Amino acid sequence: MNIQNYINGNFQNPINNHWIDNYNPSNGEVYGQIPNSTKEDVEKAYSAAKSAFPIWSKTTPEDRSRILIKISELLEVNLKRLAEAESKDNGKPISLAKAVDIPRAASNFRFFGNAITQFASESHESVGQQAINYTLRQPIGVVGCISPWNLPLYLFTWKIAPAIAAGNCVVAKPSEVTPMTAYLLGEICNEAGLPKGVLNIVHGLGTTTGQAIIEHPDIKAISFTGGTATGAHIAKVAAPMFKKLSLELGGKNPNIIFADCDYQDMLATTVRSSFANQGQVCLCGSRIFVEVSIYNQFKKDFVEKVKALTVGHPSNEDTHIGALVSKPHLEKVKEYIQIAKDENGTVLCGGNEVTIKGSENGYYLKPTVIEVTSDECRVNQEEIFGPVVTIMPFKSEDDVLEMANKVKYGLSATLWTNDLKRTMKMSNELQAGIVWVNTWMMRDLRTPFGGVKASGVGREGGFEALRFFTEAKNVCIKY
Ligand code: NDP
Repeated sequence: MNIQNYINGNFQNPINNHWIDNYNPSNGEVYGQIPNSTKEDVEKAYSAAKSAFPIWSKTTPEDRSRILIKISELLEVNLKRLAEAESKDNGKPISLAKAVDIPRAASNFRFFGNAITQFASESHESVGQQAINYTLRQPIGVVGCISPWNLPLYLFTWKIAPAIAAGNCVVAKPSEVTPMTAYLLGEICNEAGLPKGVLNIVHGLGTTTGQAIIEHPDIKAISFTGGTATGAHIAKVAAPMFKKLSLELGGKNPNIIFADCDYQDMLATTVRSSFANQGQVCLCGSRIFVEVSIYNQFKKDFVEKVKALTVGHPSNEDTHIGALVSKPHLEKVKEYIQIAKDENGTVLCGGNEVTIKGSENGYYLKPTVIEVTSDECRVNQEEIFGPVVTIMPFKSEDDVLEMANKVKYGLSATLWTNDLKRTMKMSNELQAGIVWVNTWMMRDLRTPFGGVKASGVGREGGFEALRFFTEAKNVCIKY
């Protein structure tokens, strides 16, 4: 199936008529083509967004809210179709797409549709000076939203929904590897009555289409989720133009397990936090540290549970681990398994590819647990972003804190303990944007989301996102 750009409410071919193959990771076959858009397509999308802005930015929050909530409802009506498309495009298990990805995309529109009606500006009476100050929150104009392949519709809408809720018009690019549900979103926006030009979706490569968005002098803000190296590149390009940036980047998140935790709950959640979406979630706890007194027991129980996971075709409802997103990504993950071996790591389970009958060319890898002897080895420091976790024991709170923080990333951390004093100390001192205690990936869309250090700059979620997508203007009136 060929997909097209969505510009000014219309579906259209790229101006140069150049196309890129789109692969199905479950069988390695090309199943469609997507536009290989250029600067000219981005310019066309920008012009549509610019023309739509004066009217869209003056609509009331209630009018915008109604349309966002309609989009949310239509995403729910189309859940099955969208989940199937997402699973085929990305390789993720259909059960995950149905239960998490697509419902979350619908929640994003519903949440920001509601949030914008509650997004009030502040005012301050400067009594002694007989003046009143108030803050206007004005939309920025045309903004760029660029998202990765791991949670395609979920992360695409996490940016677009607050951007348009706040009154901006958008030029957006999904990952070239997983364009399908972004394409279907265009149809849904038309059906929901989103005015033409408010959202424009341009497909293509990061280095051309994405680059044209970040270089565009009149796209005033960029919300980006993706790898740290790409984030650094965007920051460099955007800085001389003083663009507003929100960068959600990579992670190498610690999962810290103390002996006093609720063991069974921790064990089940740790399997999920290690391998959800084939380990291709920026929040996965890819470094597992276990208190020495329960280390051997944990190692045995964890490996047993991981071995029981079913690697299978993504469209099979019983599949736990689907296909990795692409051939190059599979090769990268396999390289890291070899690096672990070269660095004296012990592969406790997995480590090899899996052949699925009838889909022999798909990108399947067994979930892999590697016991490492040093927290400083490469597999413990670098983001692998696949079904691979490391485990190692620790002796004390201070030891594990030091190891947890001794990476360049700082996205999230998970802590398993029932000790309140320890919870408070560790939560304060872990270098991360999000700390989960006795749970993982429990999300409340009102909370700030983002990382520290090389995991990013800025926060998404709740009013933080609406603040990012608006400019604050102070007005001071003397009376
Ligand atoms: P990339 O950084 O490779 O790509 C992300 C997006 O940026 C894609 O749409 C890509 O296009 C585009 N892009 C690439 N180069 C440029 C450029 N020069 N200018 C503008 N856009 C560009 O990341 P991945 O898609 O590989 O995603 C995986 C990464 O995302 C991991 O590091 C993961 O940790 C991170 N991530 C972070 C999250 C967070 O919230 N902090 C959440 C989820 C993932 P194309 O694909 O076409 O190359």
